[in-house]
Amino acid sequence: MEKNQDKGNRIFPPISQAAGGRTRCVLVVEDNPDMGEFMKKVLERFGYTYLGARNGIEGVAIAKREHPDLILMDLSMPTMDGYEATRLLKAHPQVASIPVLAVTGMARSIDHKRAIEAGCDGYISKPYSLHDLFALIEEFLPRT
Ligand code: MN
Repeated sequence: MEKNQDKGNRIFPPISQAAGGRTRCVLVVEDNPDMGEFMKKVLERFGYTYLGARNGIEGVAIAKREHPDLILMDLSMPTMDGYEATRLLKAHPQVASIPVLAVTGMARSIDHKRAIEAGCDGYISKPYSLHDLFALIEEFLPRT
């Protein structure tokens, strides 16, 4: 494991198990490979199963196939952005109930409004702390 005890680990003991003991799965839709790797590392460290997609098209396809428990959605991506991908997901009965959290570098409230209008259930702006990210994830993850 990492040498450093990161802040998030102290704040969040391993709580990332649903009531049935099932490992919960988070799909990260993110075009920046470094950010994707980072998210994989922290999610797996906290006991979640990680799935990754590089753009909205891939994200929608993987969501339909794998039915993750929650989706972290970057908004600006090539090929298909997060707004469009979220609209498609929310129009699809099979996956519409999966919480979609927008992860955005845009802190302007107009962008948050657009994310919610596209169907995102919540949002977090970069830069964010791991504490805030996991608090938001836990808030939206189904309990059972
Ligand atoms: Mn991006």
